[in-house]
Amino acid sequence: MAIGALTTDVAQAAGLLLVGVVFVRGLVSCIDAWRRMRSNQEATVLELERLRASVAREALSFWKRKEQTELSWNGLRKFQVKEVVANENEDGDVTSFHLVPHDERPLPLFRPGQFLTFVLRVPGETRRVIRCYSLSDAPRRDRYRVTIKRVPKGLVSGFFHTQLRAGDIVDARAPAGNFCLDMEEEFPVVLIAGGVGVTPMLSMFNTVAAEQPDREVWFLYAAHTGTAFIHREHIESLVATCPNAHALFVAGSPTAADEAAVGGSLDSGTRIRVGTGRLTGDLLKEILPSTAARTHAFYTCGPPPMMTAIVQALEAWGVSDDRIHYEAFGPASIRKKPAEAKAGGSDEPAVGVEVSFSKSDKTVPWDADAETLLALAQANGIAIECNCLAGNCGTCETAVRDGEFTYVKDPSYDAAPGTCLTCIAVPKTKLTLDA
Ligand SMILES: Cc1cc2nc3c(=O)[nH]c(=O)nc-3n(C[C@H](O)[C@H](O)[C@H](O)COP(=O)(O)OP(=O)(O)OC[C@H]3O[C@@H](n4cnc5c(N)ncnc54)[C@H](O)[C@@H]3O)c2cc1C
Repeated sequence: MAIGALTTDVAQAAGLLLVGVVFVRGLVSCIDAWRRMRSNQEATVLELERLRASVAREALSFWKRKEQTELSWNGLRKFQVKEVVANENEDGDVTSFHLVPHDERPLPLFRPGQFLTFVLRVPGETRRVIRCYSLSDAPRRDRYRVTIKRVPKGLVSGFFHTQLRAGDIVDARAPAGNFCLDMEEEFPVVLIAGGVGVTPMLSMFNTVAAEQPDREVWFLYAAHTGTAFIHREHIESLVATCPNAHALFVAGSPTAADEAAVGGSLDSGTRIRVGTGRLTGDLLKEILPSTAARTHAFYTCGPPPMMTAIVQALEAWGVSDDRIHYEAFGPASIRKKPAEAKAGGSDEPAVGVEVSFSKSDKTVPWDADAETLLALAQANGIAIECNCLAGNCGTCETAVRDGEFTYVKDPSYDAAPGTCLTCIAVPKTKLTLDA
């Protein structure tokens, strides 16, 4: 009897234990399911937020592009010089020109890094002269600014510096160029400027400071001496207001004052460093975060030898092509590693074909060493006007009478149908140019 009761108790206890285990398991799986649901919900909310932000970005960029197209213009537009600001550096050879549209209609918001192409009547010149100048400020609807360094014996820079006054009128084409900072994203950027090549970078930094002040920016600026830096104080003031911005100034041929000014740090305090020497790949690796080759985008503009060295160093560091952007103010363009030079496919330049210049009545064999049709023409005493040598300005646009050509790089200037930009073109077949 006692044994029977004990067996019943044990069975009851075991049953209760079983129920308890089942209950606890059920509870645990309920909690798990609830947790999963919550985290799924959070993920869904996050995903929705991301989607909403991306739709908003797309919509904004669509309207910006639409407005840019509507406000842009074909051909030339008249601009009045509103203000002339001399001495933009201590050397006193850089002046800014503020231009307002003569028709008083609003201006398209250009992309930071773009330039204006001026078509000018310069006293003493029988032909119109064409020069490009980068827009050096953040986009505004009422005025544009260009910042010009006077080069020794320079025709147009001299004209701007010595003859253009407030109230004068100049003709310019709409902003152009693909050397632009992507303002739809916020990835970190490294702006590497040499000399007057700083002008598009000023536009980029000013725009970032106004629209994305928290964006990570590294402003690396090389000049011959400390007195040549353009807008140095302004750059420093931008670094002071943007918490993730840094600036490095290096003087290539330092004076005693430059040597004495060396100091500062990019890591802390002012986030401004002053040094001497050159901007090299080793220096970039030393100062930038170790992940920069994968995470940062690089923009460089300056003397061709500096840009060539920088671009090659970035490639060697493993920075992908789509993160390396550069612009040459001419006349030479960047030499990339031979393996990277554009080749292959149906765009491959022709071998052994002839190029005829109809106006000059000359036919010469295509010489691949010439690299471009413009260089071939010049080597054979045929004058074709040119300026940027990079397919940007349209000065070397020449009618093609017969045959096909291809470009060695994408042009920024839209050449008219039936013409080619000889400074970046090579023949694909036997070719006749109207030059
Ligand atoms: C996309 C782009 C953007 C640019 N942005 C800017 C900018 O923001 N700011 C800026 O200052 N510049 C900029 N430039 C450069 C600018 O377009 C001009 O090339 C520059 O101002 C020089 O033009 P110039 O007419 O004064 O000189 P040029 O008369 O063209 O002369 C240039 C140099 O060649 C020398 N030279 C000319 N003829 C001869 C000869 N027969 N024999 C020997 N030497 C000669 C001159 O002494 C001078 O040193 C940009 C260029 C491009 C392509």
